[in-house]
Amino acid sequence: MSRISDSNTEKFIVALDAGHGGDDPGNRGNGYKEKDIALKVVLAVGAALEKDDRFKVVYTRKTDKFIELHERGRIANKAKADLFVSIHCNSHRSQAYGTETFVLGLHANDENFNVAKKENSVILMEDNYEANYDGFDPNSPESIIGLTLMQEEYLDQSLILASYIEKRFTNTLKRKSRGVKQAGFVVLHQTYMPSVLVELGFLTNNKEGKYLNSKKGQDDMAKSIIKSIVDYKDSLDETYYVPEPKTPEVVTNDTIIKTVDEELYDGITFKVQIEAGSNDVVLDPKNFNGLDQLSKVQFGEVYKYYFGNTPNYNLIKELKNVAVAKGYTSCFVVAFKNNEIIPLSEALKTNTSSN
Ligand SMILES: [Zn+2]
Repeated sequence: MSRISDSNTEKFIVALDAGHGGDDPGNRGNGYKEKDIALKVVLAVGAALEKDDRFKVVYTRKTDKFIELHERGRIANKAKADLFVSIHCNSHRSQAYGTETFVLGLHANDENFNVAKKENSVILMEDNYEANYDGFDPNSPESIIGLTLMQEEYLDQSLILASYIEKRFTNTLKRKSRGVKQAGFVVLHQTYMPSVLVELGFLTNNKEGKYLNSKKGQDDMAKSIIKSIVDYKDSLDETYYVPEPKTPEVVTNDTIIKTVDEELYDGITFKVQIEAGSNDVVLDPKNFNGLDQLSKVQFGEVYKYYFGNTPNYNLIKELKNVAVAKGYTSCFVVAFKNNEIIPLSEALKTNTSSN
């Protein structure tokens, strides 16, 4: 009997969003149409991902039609997408150029706000936008604050994808990257998954506009986005090697003292001997695999190192287990009375706990 896997549910679902469409052309820098360039890039990204059976692709639009911003998020959410990638092109009065990838956040500056404002302004073309966007005002920088919370839990992952995309643009295509940025894009606010908005470049820049309007430019940009999405998925699948922390987590008596019953011995102090040797080692948790509550006694030329310090025999047994777990596999409990080591059996005769 072979196991039939439900491969469909295991696929990594990517929601692709071509900005604008229909009556909303997006920016018309140099006479190019943002809505058309965004759609061509999206279709190229989608076609490549669909050939890879690890992926399933959903589109907010595959044709030249107007889709409201909140509807775009709804499509991605309904498909339970693992990722949302919105594709746009930028514009500016100047000959500014370069790529930018945004994640949702507070506008760090006016420049970022202005990009988001342009992309958000489409909601003014929508019917009933006040109700659909909960009173959001695309012209107010403050209005975004309430929007950012929903995406917060996906911020780290969104930033990872955004940085993969920008790195591909610069390293592979030698495009100028203006960086990974945060701003209040309404379309990113609507989704329940890591989400980025890519500005492929400026149509208003003569050279960049021409490149982005060309088949080669669109294929190049699509390839970089495809590879970034694949890298992102792979990074989620990898089991990362976690190196030992340089400063180990400090273990103290207090960590476990609340969990053990008292078994007290009058005038006795128990410690766990963890090491002995001729080296005089500084009593720092870093030097003892993170163990704290350290003490040291010099016997002639030999230093003995101890962990823990308690009259509670149950606690010291627990601390011995901790020391073993930290690598001191041959450690043992010793008893002190008046700062002298006494045989453990003798110490245990002085139990003063009431039973
Ligand atoms: Zn746009």
